[in-house]
This record gives sequence, C-alpha cells and structure tokens, in this order.
Amino acid sequence: MDEKAKKRLEKFLRYVKIDTQSNEESNTSPSAEKEYDLLNLLKEELLALGLKDAAIDEYGRLYAHLDGEEGWERIGLNSHVDTASEASGKNVNPLIHENYDGKDIVLPNGLVTSVADFPRLKNYVGDTIVTTDGTTLLGGDDKAGLAIIMNALEELIEEGVPHHPVSILFTPDEEIGRGPEHFNNERFGAEYAYTIDGADPDLIEYENFNAAHAEVRIEGLAIHPGEAKGKLINALTLLEKLDLSLGVARRPEMTEGYEGFFHLIAVKGDSASCEARYLIREHDQAKFEAMKQELLDHARELNAIYPKAKIDVHIKEDYRNMKEILGKDPRAIEHAKKAFAAANIPMRVDPIRGGTDGATFSFLGCPTPNLGTGSYNHHGEREYLSLRDFEAMIELVKKVLTVR
Ligand SMILES: [Zn+2]
Repeated sequence: MDEKAKKRLEKFLRYVKIDTQSNEESNTSPSAEKEYDLLNLLKEELLALGLKDAAIDEYGRLYAHLDGEEGWERIGLNSHVDTASEASGKNVNPLIHENYDGKDIVLPNGLVTSVADFPRLKNYVGDTIVTTDGTTLLGGDDKAGLAIIMNALEELIEEGVPHHPVSILFTPDEEIGRGPEHFNNERFGAEYAYTIDGADPDLIEYENFNAAHAEVRIEGLAIHPGEAKGKLINALTLLEKLDLSLGVARRPEMTEGYEGFFHLIAVKGDSASCEARYLIREHDQAKFEAMKQELLDHARELNAIYPKAKIDVHIKEDYRNMKEILGKDPRAIEHAKKAFAAANIPMRVDPIRGGTDGATFSFLGCPTPNLGTGSYNHHGEREYLSLRDFEAMIELVKKVLTVR
C-alpha cells in the first residue's frame, strides 16, 4: 500500500472505531448521544481544513461550506454518521487484508465470507480488503462516505486546484429513516448535491421507490367454535383473504429491478381481531397510486361480503421517487456524467429498491442523486471495503468538485 492510500485509509479506520449506532426507540435528535462523538470529530477536522463555518445545529446536523471559484455552481456532498442496528458497532476492530488472494475470507471468530456466497470478491484479487473481525459490522455504511468526502476535500485544498464552492452536510439517524429530518436547504445552500452512501463506484442512483405503509385493522365476529357454523367470522381468515387478493407475485421475494411489491411485515392479534402492517413500494408513480387504491378496494369488497366484520385500512406515504425531481432538473446527472468521464469510469444507472435521504432532499429543493462508497455487504459482520473502489470514489468526488 502506498503512502497516499495509507493516508486515505487512515481516516476510514479512525471513523469506524467510533461507535455511532442510532437508536430506533429514541425520539431525540440525534437519536443517540454517541453520534456526537463522530460529529464533533468531523467538525474539528473540517475547521482544521479551513471550512470556518463548520457547526452542528441543535438537531445534530453538521453543516460546513468551502469557497470555490466565482460563478461556479455550489455543489453539496452528504453522508451519515450513524450505523445500522442489525449488528453491533461497538469495539469495531477492522482487519486489513493486503494483496487479497481471491479466496474465502475466514475471520478470527470463524465467520466465513465465501466467494461462493459473494462472487464479486473475485474482482478484488491483488486489492486491499478491509473486513471486520467477525463480531461487529464494519460501518462502511456510511463511514466510507464520510472518509471519501474528507479525503477529497483535504486533497483538493492541498493541491490548490480550482474547484466548485462546496456545501457539506453530515447527518445522524439515516439508518432509522430520520436522516433528512430538519433538513435546512437554505443553510445547505447547494444548487444540487450527491449523497455518498451507495456501493459500486461506477453507479449513480437517482430513481428510488415511491413508498407508503398501510395499517390494516380487522374485527371479526367471535362465537364459540362449537356453535360457529354460519356465524363466526375469523379475523385472521379475512386477513389471509385480503393478503392473497394482493397477489403472491407482488411480494419482495418475487420481484426485482423496477417491479413493485406489497410486503406484509407484521401481524398481531387473534381470531376476534387482528392488525397487520404492509409496506407498499413501486417506482412508477401511476402504478404506485393504483396499488394503494387496490388495497383499499380489496378491503372494501371484503367488507361488502362480510358486513358484520370491520376492515379498516389506513395508508400513509413515506417517501417518493426522486426521479420526479431529477427529471425536471437533471443538472446533477449531467454534471455527474462529466465527472465519471473525467475519472475514466463508465457511468452505470440502477434503480434503488429502497429509499435514500437524497430523495427527501430532492423534494425539499436540492436534487441529490446517490454515489458509491466502495464498501459492500452492509449491515452485517461480513461487511468489507475495497481499497481500490474506495480510492476510485475519492478520485470521482474530486472530479465532481472540479469539472465544469
Ligand atoms: Zn447508509
């Protein structure tokens, strides 16, 4: 590993050792006090780089600005400091595998990241791979994003090359869906921005799901089963009927690419009454509206067949496909194309089968596609970072900030 790579990686290794797991149970902003441990460190580093206004607002959002060439568009960069709840982020002990041999990676506690399960590992023969020790997540999601941004800023400033004015936003609580809360677009001040929170360095994402969730409440008619014939209405049976009416082909495990789904995520109750929760996801706005209507229609039809039962459906929208915004204002995509070309990376577009904070930023006035990080297998102990991809992302972000 050369000195430059070592220096770049050092930031990432430093950030991942700070426990910043967000807390779904909490109502405060940020959700966990410990997220400040990294926010404060980043603030100090930004100040040291000369971003004199670096400051954390009352909700734990870190904003900073860097002047650039006059007349050049102000470009925003965003990442999140928190890590996911699926695996511990405490005492992260990153392991560096230099000159990776392309074979299964056996971690000290016996956990195996196998090439059979993760065939893309074969791409990294000769590369430096950073893994966990098998007991925690790595936190590349999204500390790789933070380290990419911090390295790119530092190098641009050191090199003294002309660059765009830059706006930085580091948020807590992305993993619990609260990253874009309290977003202050005026304070951010970017014409458009990029979230550095994806995986592959050749990927730009600006299409995400339209998302809603539905709360279903069913009251049946409880009668002693011995005398139930022709009278009892089992709430669980009605839920089953409602679920089947949505179509088994439109479940997450049956869909991919641009295909939407209904995802039954929780059920509680008994034969007298029950509640269920669905996620509704679809890229296409018209299809999304139709799916929501369909669920309401099926519930109504079922109620008509069983007038003595009660079936209530409440649907609430969660987020929308940012393509709606990027379609009208494609400057961020056009600019990214130039940066990818300058970095010599063929740009690939892929729909996100989920959401991204950039979608909310886009609807709040700052079009924000998502770029990669070079880290993979997020949210688990098998997470790893490719140094080659991570460095490619630093170069790409530098191009984003310097091409016109
Ligand atoms: Zn993330």
